[in-house]
Amino acid sequence: MAEILGVNVDCVTMAQAMQKIDELILLKKPSLIATANAEMLMLATHDFELKQILNSAAMVTPDGAGTVWAARHLGFNMPERVAGVDLVTNLLHKNYKSYFFGAAPGVAKKAAENFPSVVGTRNGFFSKVEEPKIIADINATNADILLVGLGVPKQEKWIFNNLDKLNVPVCIGVGGTFDVLAGNTPRAPMWMQRAKLEWLFRALLQPSRAGRLIALPKFVFKVYKNSESEKS
Ligand code: UDP
Repeated sequence: MAEILGVNVDCVTMAQAMQKIDELILLKKPSLIATANAEMLMLATHDFELKQILNSAAMVTPDGAGTVWAARHLGFNMPERVAGVDLVTNLLHKNYKSYFFGAAPGVAKKAAENFPSVVGTRNGFFSKVEEPKIIADINATNADILLVGLGVPKQEKWIFNNLDKLNVPVCIGVGGTFDVLAGNTPRAPMWMQRAKLEWLFRALLQPSRAGRLIALPKFVFKVYKNSESEKS
């Protein structure tokens, strides 16, 4: 376990993360999984509720080059990046019964077209009064995995607050994954992913997101500063 800015991130490979999910599905007890990138970890430094939720999660995977860098800089043995989109794609290929909850109307449905193991979909725009029905619909499908794409931290808070009502062993916050699976947001070309430049690709594609990128240098600075002050 690597503690990064107060959040415990699991030092897992993709294979180990997949194995942990297999185990959680067998256990049947509803559990929360988060994939933590630099932006999420930065947010958790001033969103105490999010921080507590992450620290109570069954697993927090190192999503993004920033998280892997931070863990290694702090001296932890962080093997590799376990990105949310890759984790979800791998799980879908294992044919677990999955439910897609989130994104704009039609997106989750379109994303599900390529995966026969998806047992239900629901868009991510709803009011409080609709929640019991949404939860009942999810439970009625007997899904093994619930993917929740409402954005950070809304999805983590939603899962945490409803975990005792959800009859699903594994619930994962997946951000904009349905937009990617539906083909609405392209992933960066492989060479950019390998060069750890996926963030740059996204900023070029959606300039409205560019402001959020400031979280990355802030994150690097904060991790660096904290580690220096611990040394002295
Ligand atoms: N979204 C949603 N309900 C909301 C707010 C957002 O379903 O009330 C969806 C939005 O349509 C998008 C996803 O949540 O599909 C957020 O994507 P983003 O890439 O911004 O995720 P993050 O960077 O927060 O992981």
